[in-house]
Amino acid sequence: MELHWEKLHLVMRYTWRISRDAASTKQNVLVRLRYQGTEGIGEAAPNIRYEEDADSVIAFLQKAEPLLRKADPWHYQDLLDEMYALDPGQNAAKAGLDLAIFDLLGKLLRQPLHRLLGLNPEKAPHINYSIGIDTPEKIQKKIREAPHFPCYKIKVGTENDETIIQAVRSVTDRPLRVDANEGWTDRETALRRIEWLARQDVEFMEQPLPAGRLEDVAWLRERSPLPLIADEDVKRAADIPRLAGVYDGVNIKIMKSGGLLEALRMVHVARAHGLKVMLGCMLETSIAITAAAQISPLVDYADLDGNLLLAEDPYQGVEVAQGRLLLPDRPGLGIMPRAEVTAASS
Ligand code: MG
Repeated sequence: MELHWEKLHLVMRYTWRISRDAASTKQNVLVRLRYQGTEGIGEAAPNIRYEEDADSVIAFLQKAEPLLRKADPWHYQDLLDEMYALDPGQNAAKAGLDLAIFDLLGKLLRQPLHRLLGLNPEKAPHINYSIGIDTPEKIQKKIREAPHFPCYKIKVGTENDETIIQAVRSVTDRPLRVDANEGWTDRETALRRIEWLARQDVEFMEQPLPAGRLEDVAWLRERSPLPLIADEDVKRAADIPRLAGVYDGVNIKIMKSGGLLEALRMVHVARAHGLKVMLGCMLETSIAITAAAQISPLVDYADLDGNLLLAEDPYQGVEVAQGRLLLPDRPGLGIMPRAEVTAASS
């Protein structure tokens, strides 16, 4: 296979702020793999939380290039495991290659990926719309601009959490999912805030405490009126067994797992441990969002809206209708450059 890459410079619709940082632009990496005249595309959305940026992604791609040059994409299980072993981290870069391989295979077989995986697109779930930390006025404006979503995911983990939720509740009575992104430092504070949130029609609470504090999370779960979902505490399938009995569910993201192959393993490992399964995302274009959406018929909750938070998405793939994911029928991941879509319809 022949490997090519380029940086994607993305601009956010609004500055994206969570408990630990804020960004108004984002650099992702577009990955192209060519094999026998067909091209598969993938995307790496690096996250500074996991010591990744566009340059570290490219450094990993350079390391993987000799392996890919002589590899047979049909032996992708071995190939991806060899790739995983090249570096203990850099999962976004691994995901970029994994996505390009699955896109390529679907195109070679002329079938959408969800069909190859035996998944029913009609079972694709609805998604929530994410609201970053902001002033009450901006938060209300963002919700009014996105009225078609059946629920919203609200970022907290600040001194002003109650103000944020009250601002949301003054404009919508839809269910909320709440994510502290490790923002609360002690379990007593976390419990008090969760008890308050439980009275505001909240469906679940994501990553209340910093990663690695499993004893505190177990203490919290015994007392919490809301289900607790792990995000920063889980990246790969091997992280899951120790979370059983500590959390109620896991947030799987293809950029944390290193791609779809490991994400599928995670779904099954989580189910075997009686955990709920959520699919999440980073700030990504429709390439990575559509890739994750391909496996969404397997999950309970989908938080796949990173593309909707961009000022301009250069690609088109999965669509959202009344908050539900509509999987594309095209081969592979089913993605097209937006410029081509516009040209074809004009
Ligand atoms: Mg999260």
